Amino acid sequence: TLAGRTALVTGSTSGIGLGIALLYAQAGAKVMLNGFGKPEEIARARAEVGAAMGVAEAPYSAADLSKAAAVKDMVQQAQDALGSLDILVNNAGIQFVAPIDEFPDDKFEAIMAINFASNWYAIKAALPGMKARNWGRIVNIASAHGLIASAEKSAYVSAKHAVVGLTKTVAIEIAQTPITCNAICPGFVRTPLAEAQVGPLAKQFGVSEEVALKDHLLAHQPSKRWIEVEEVARMALYLVGPGSGGVNGAALSIDGGWTAN
Ligand code: NAD
Repeated sequence: TLAGRTALVTGSTSGIGLGIALLYAQAGAKVMLNGFGKPEEIARARAEVGAAMGVAEAPYSAADLSKAAAVKDMVQQAQDALGSLDILVNNAGIQFVAPIDEFPDDKFEAIMAINFASNWYAIKAALPGMKARNWGRIVNIASAHGLIASAEKSAYVSAKHAVVGLTKTVAIEIAQTPITCNAICPGFVRTPLAEAQVGPLAKQFGVSEEVALKDHLLAHQPSKRWIEVEEVARMALYLVGPGSGGVNGAALSIDGGWTAN
């Protein structure tokens, strides 16, 4: 379904981004990866996604998305390596948890830069090419925290609400073109970013990791189970595949009922 399409997925050396990159490649797209990690992890991701593309390794950008100039360079690099950029998935993100009066400034600034500002710069850089070729898909991985809040996540919740606002604004600006811009709002997905929050909760409440997961991390996720990476990737595939052109400016929830509560 994505034969002939080109895609850049940020933060795709791990977790949700890797799952999306892999599914896009399996669907026939040429995909560029981005993200940090140990050299062997990056090599493994490039080989895995490359295999789905029928090449030894997928193209990769090491851009640090906390820097605006690096985001712009990454988009240019993707256009050069892939020949065009049809699909942009803004996925890279980090988390930090603390009450606001104890929240380090540098963590706040990093979260705003990586989780939000990088989306703004990447969309700005990628749109002219999409307009010129008269087709494009922008998918921003926001969060249930783009729609509602939880305590001690002031930076993350602010950044993700900003991503939803950005998604809506861009969608209106491009509404009369064959380009769409949408956000996906997952609840807790089984990835390193989310799994890292279970241990500290178990310690904080003096309970097992199993109880910390169900009663604390997933306290507001009525399904009481992790969303799987593949489930998010399926939604991301729908948004760039045939028949999705009427979906624009949406913030699509995939959260086991969390935001229905
Ligand atoms: P993850 O930690 O598994 O992956 C994050 C990716 O971003 C990695 O590839 C990492 O190298 C990359 N990254 C981090 N900082 C970067 C930087 N400065 N420059 C470039 N790349 C950088 O996390 P994940 O859970 O897969 O999260 C992916 C996205 O999904 C994030 O935006 C996150 O906020 C969002 N999300 C996750 C969940 C969840 O429960 N896991 C829920 C809702 C939303």
